[in-house]
Amino acid sequence: MEVMYKSTRSSQTVTASQAILKGLADDGGLFVPVTIPKLDIPVSKLAGMNYQETAYEVMSRFFTDFTEEELKDCIRKAYDDKFDTKEIAPLKEADGAYYLELFHGATIAFKDMALSILPHLLTTSAKKNNVKNEIVILTATSGDTGKAALAGFADVPHTKIVVFYPKGGVSPIQEKQMVTQKGDNTFVVGIKGNFDQAQSGVKEIFGNKELAKYMDEKGFQFSCANSINVGRLIPQVVYYVYAYAKLTAAGKLTDGELMNVVVPTGNFGNILAAFFAKNMGLPIGKLICASNDNKVLYDFFTTGTYDKNREFILTNSPSMDILISSNLERLIYRIAGNDDVKNQELMKALSTEGKYTITDEMKEGLKDFYGNYATEAETAKRIRDLYEKTGYIIDTHTAVASCVYQKYLADTKDTTTAVIASTASPFKFTRSVMKAIDEKYDAMEDFALADELSKIGKVKIPRAIEEIRTAEVRHNTVVEVDEMEATVKKFLNGTPIQSPTSIGGE
Ligand SMILES: *Cc1c(COP(=O)(O)O)cnc(C)c1O
Repeated sequence: MEVMYKSTRSSQTVTASQAILKGLADDGGLFVPVTIPKLDIPVSKLAGMNYQETAYEVMSRFFTDFTEEELKDCIRKAYDDKFDTKEIAPLKEADGAYYLELFHGATIAFKDMALSILPHLLTTSAKKNNVKNEIVILTATSGDTGKAALAGFADVPHTKIVVFYPKGGVSPIQEKQMVTQKGDNTFVVGIKGNFDQAQSGVKEIFGNKELAKYMDEKGFQFSCANSINVGRLIPQVVYYVYAYAKLTAAGKLTDGELMNVVVPTGNFGNILAAFFAKNMGLPIGKLICASNDNKVLYDFFTTGTYDKNREFILTNSPSMDILISSNLERLIYRIAGNDDVKNQELMKALSTEGKYTITDEMKEGLKDFYGNYATEAETAKRIRDLYEKTGYIIDTHTAVASCVYQKYLADTKDTTTAVIASTASPFKFTRSVMKAIDEKYDAMEDFALADELSKIGKVKIPRAIEEIRTAEVRHNTVVEVDEMEATVKKFLNGTPIQSPTSIGGE
């Protein structure tokens, strides 16, 4: 049966490959599968499969207009030795829970799980829809997504990627990771402005019809790689199925027994993927949504009101510092009874008043979710406690989830087997992690800290960190905000970009 994708804000309906190509629906809505397919394959069979085989079983149920060969080809190119373990997403048991390590890819964070396959899904979708143009990915980044997208698209034929980041607005390690990116089709530009300006600049370029026409004549078209693309969401369903199957294979779960999942949440993509897995029929019990001090989601789950009118707090789990969780719209649409008119009303309220309240009936639809949050001090304490108790070291985002899981246990006494999504390697947030273990580490410099973390945690320094110690800088363009469009044009025309000083020097 063909699974079609419908906008959350209108009746626009497209195929899977069209949804991947478009990213966002024409009305600004998000694409959702009209029906969530069933996982019509016994767990006993899944238990014997590797990650790639599991990925095929899950994704083929959703991306029904891809041929078996196309999808397998995408999967093979994505989940290869870019990952530092054959298991791709291994499980580690610590202190009574299973940590699903989603950080073994190129940039040691969970965004790699989807961004390593998106480029291939996108180029395959282009081919299927007779798009002759080369796909140009434009992204503004506050640090993490940019690097994961660069790593995913590097040297993928028929694509180019341009990433804008705020010069001086990302961490030194994040900047080094980006400016050392290899691949002839990659392009990294610092802008003299902040992240919001970078993002607005990119949006303007996307919205510029004249530029789109010019690009089309040159054989290019823009696309984006952000987390609302179904080509990112669906690949994330895979690892929940995989985790369940592996726990069953190891005798930790019996077939059909429930498993709870705990997800450190920002944009709501990762936990929504778990919700999709549950709706496919995977025996998932509670979906435990963990927030940091930016606890919009916790408030939403407890009150039914989503309210972004509040102070934005910078935390040590920056990838979760978000006040508008874009992917929540897909859940709202669903609990509104797949009603695009009702959903649009609420989203309009969100954009005009910054808040909306759901009905009691809709609240019923949230009963599988549990929301809570962890403060900065609680998060740091959890890193230290877990390390002291078990020797296992987790990153700050994972620690938010781990801490919320402790609160859940205390609240509910529900001892159902729990899987905690471990979304970043501790080596990605070395300083915060090591400081949480002992304040004395703050005196050490970054690479020495990584060495120390490796020593006390008894884990090898990931390749991603080793590489940037010695990698050469390949991108050094810095431009003014109003030069972003011209920079993209120059790059696509193949004109060598001038050195930073000659483009609007200070
Ligand atoms: C993006 C990210 C998250 C949040 O995931 P969402 O899908 O946006 O909810 C959590 N942790 C890390 C390390 C991330 O990079």
